Parts: sequence; structure tokens; C-alpha cells
Amino acid sequence: MSLKTKEKITLFWFRRDLRLHDNAGLYYALRSGNPVVPIFIFDKTILDDIDNKEDKRLTFIHQNIIEIQRELHMFGSDMLVFYGHPTDVWKELSEEYDIAEAYTNTDYEPYATERDTAVAKILHKRNAELKAYKDQVIFEKKEILTGQNTPYTVFTPYSRMWRQKCDDFYLSSYPNKKYFKNFLKWEGSAIPTLEEMGFKPTNTDFPSTHVSSELLENYEKGRDFPAMEATSRIGIHLRFGTVSIRKLARHAMEHSSLYLNELIWREFYQQILANFPHVGKGKAFRAAYDDINWGYDKEAFQKWCDGKTGYPLVDAGMRQMNAIGFMHNRVRMVVASFLAKHLLLNWRLGEAYFAEKLLDYDLAANNGGWQWAVGSGTDAAPYFRIFNPEAQAKKFDPKGEYIKKWVPEIGTAEYPEPMVDHKMARERCLREYKKALDKS
Ligand code: FAD
Repeated sequence: MSLKTKEKITLFWFRRDLRLHDNAGLYYALRSGNPVVPIFIFDKTILDDIDNKEDKRLTFIHQNIIEIQRELHMFGSDMLVFYGHPTDVWKELSEEYDIAEAYTNTDYEPYATERDTAVAKILHKRNAELKAYKDQVIFEKKEILTGQNTPYTVFTPYSRMWRQKCDDFYLSSYPNKKYFKNFLKWEGSAIPTLEEMGFKPTNTDFPSTHVSSELLENYEKGRDFPAMEATSRIGIHLRFGTVSIRKLARHAMEHSSLYLNELIWREFYQQILANFPHVGKGKAFRAAYDDINWGYDKEAFQKWCDGKTGYPLVDAGMRQMNAIGFMHNRVRMVVASFLAKHLLLNWRLGEAYFAEKLLDYDLAANNGGWQWAVGSGTDAAPYFRIFNPEAQAKKFDPKGEYIKKWVPEIGTAEYPEPMVDHKMARERCLREYKKALDKS
């Protein structure tokens, strides 16, 4: 390891909170009384599962780690960056250094929870503690509960309670800057290159962290129309913590209640994942939906993935995601519903495909979105409401601009015929859903 010190130190572990400012766990680390050394681990457990060696998200993370290191250098400090399994790295760290305490921010995903428990045990053996703080949400886990002290499973009353409880205390930023002098003074750390980890950097234009007041003020008018590009595209920054949710929520409060509502949807799904972890382990929120006779037709799935279903809005959405790692929310709902209801394919296939492709992929929101579309989730639309992709296209892309952009051969002989008939698919779906749900 490039840092040689016998001093008692505090370690801060970055994960999905890649910023020095307004970072809760880092703030507490910097106030702990010992010099702080930040660390980041390119986690082999996660990286080994990524088949695409040009995954854009790795470039994003890598760029942001370099940026954090650059900022640390400005005040004569540095960070340790590893490529390995977190438990191995922490074993090494605990043998090498006199660790007073380790700080981090809570990650609510099942894998992260298990990983953190294992790391906490390693530290415990050395009489150090892993302290985790709430950072990526305004309210976590069981902070917003019903009158019966149970987690909400319906969005509207959850959001009402969220707004009622949210005040300056929850929204104010952590003044990390005041304590930057408490980083250990040292330099000389090397960040592993993407190539060293078996990946290639990509030349991607990532969305900006800036959300203009103007966008928020026009959000209500434009956000449902995929051709308008009227949404913030901030998802990737929320996913990796390159923006602070407190700052963004304050901005939303000033300019758009509807935008704030979307941020509350994000928190709603985060607390669903924390309180009902089975949803993050491949299970339907409502168990009966696991009895539906889901199909695995490879050819049909491939057509959906490639945007060759013969339904223009579905195809435009899939091609948009394949090309740029983003798909408009309205279209995500339509393509998800199409896979599950029109094709009766197992929605986990679609969920996994989104996980591979979306820059803003987030387990809680993705799973929540998929289960909503399938009907198996918390706050689901009744299953007999089946999106008609053509009607959706007429309503939300009335001039066909979005479709034309992503499906340029529309209207020519090259464009495929619909792979299923809407009416037949609708009836088949209702029949199959009913069969499974009537049993329960
Ligand atoms: P904006 O409209 O500008 O909204 C701002 C932020 O609010 C988003 O970045 C996101 O963090 C949050 N948000 C908005 N809508 C939702 C929502 N319905 N649920 C949860 N959070 C929301 N969102 C993800 O962040 N990651 C995912 O992996 C993901 N997968 C989805 C899968 C399906 C099937 C569906 C229907 C939705 C999914 N969403 C997901 C929610 C939503 O589509 C995206 O958050 C949104 O399209 C991102 O674009 P934006 O940043 O421009 O959003």
C-alpha cells in the first residue's frame, strides 16, 4: 500500500456517494478527531459480473474517483484506491494500519448489506467500528411510517407524510469544507486504470449535474413527452452520489412540486427495498405474481432487446437505451409493460437487461418500476389495465418525432410487422394473470 503511517487514522469508505461536499459519512469522519484517509474499492464481486468490457458506468466512476483525488491533492491529501474483494481489502487495511474507526454511508441493497456486515466483523476483531450514515436519501428505512408503525406500501400517503416531515433539519447540507483540514496529509497514491481491471474507457458525454430552474419550471408541461427532453437526466448522479440529494431536494422545493414528487418516488422505492428486501432478491412484492406462467422465449426476448417488435414506441425506447444508456420514463413504462403483458416473458429478464444498459440503473427504482408495470408491486396499477403501445404513442409522441429519431426506417418496408397482435396479447395476458391470481 502506498501510504506508510503508524498514526491512528480514521478511514472513510466511498461507495455511492462520490463527492467531498455535503457528504454525511465523510462529515462525521472528518469530525472524529483522527486524521482521515478516504478509500475506494473497485469491487471485484460486482465487476466480475459485468460482461460488457466497455461499460460506460465504469468510466463514470473512474472519472469521478480521479476528480476526488484531484480535489484532495489541492489540500495536500490523497486517497487509497483498490481493485479487489472488499473483505480482502479490509483485512489488509486492518493489518496494515492502526484504524480508530471506519465511516461510510448506508447502502440499502441486499448485496451491500451483506458486504457491510462482513466488513464490520473484520473491523470488530481489531476493536474498530464501521459507522454508517444516511446520505443518499432524505428519509431512510423506517423514518416514515404509517399510524400503525408499519412501512408505507402505497405512494400517495407516503409522499404526504414525507412532505409533512421534511423540514430544514433534513434538508440542510453538511458543511464538510470546514473540516477538510482533518484529512491526513500525504500524497502518492495510484488509481488502478480501467485496463488494469479488464475494462476499456468509453468516450461518453455524461449528463450534467446542473438542473436549471427553467427546466424545473417547465417540467410539468414537458416531462411526459419523450421528444421534448424535458427531464433532468440526473439519475446517474443520484445513483453514484455525484450530487447531493439534500441540495437537489431544496432546489426542487423552490421550483417544482411535481419534480419533488419524483424524488419522493425514488425514496419510496428505497424504503421498500430496505423494508421488504425480498424484492431485491428476485421475488415479486406480491407473492401470487410469482405463480404466473412466465415465458422464456429467447427469440421474442431478443426482438424486444433489439427494438424490433414492430411496435414503434417500444422499439424507439429500446433503441434509445441501447444507444445512449437512457430511456424516457414514459417509454420505460410502455416497454416494461409490453415485455410482461404482451409477450408474457419473465419480467426479470427485462429488469436484468435494464440493469445492464441504463446509466442511471438503480436496483430499488428499477425493481420498483418493473413491479409497477407488471402489477406485482406495492402501488401497482390494476393488472387488467394494459398499455396499448399505439395509443401511448399517439398521446405522448403525437408528431412521431421521438419514434422517427430512434426508428428512422419507420414507414418503410424495412420496418418489421408487429410481433404479436395487440388484442390477442391482451386477452392472453388477462387469462394467464387470472389463472395465477385466482389461486391465491
Ligand atoms: P426526472 O424526471 O428528471 O426525475 C428526477 C429524478 O427523480 C430521477 O433521476 C430519479 O432519481 C427520480 N425518479 C423519477 N421518476 C422516478 C420513478 N418513477 N421511480 C423512482 N425514481 C424516480 N429510475 C432510476 O433512477 N433507475 C432505474 O434503474 C430505473 N428503472 C426504471 C425501470 C422502469 C421499468 C420504470 C418504469 C422506471 C424506472 N426508473 C428508474 C424511474 C424513471 O424512469 C427514471 O428515474 C427517470 O426516467 C430518469 O430520468 P431523469 O433523471 O431525466 O428523471
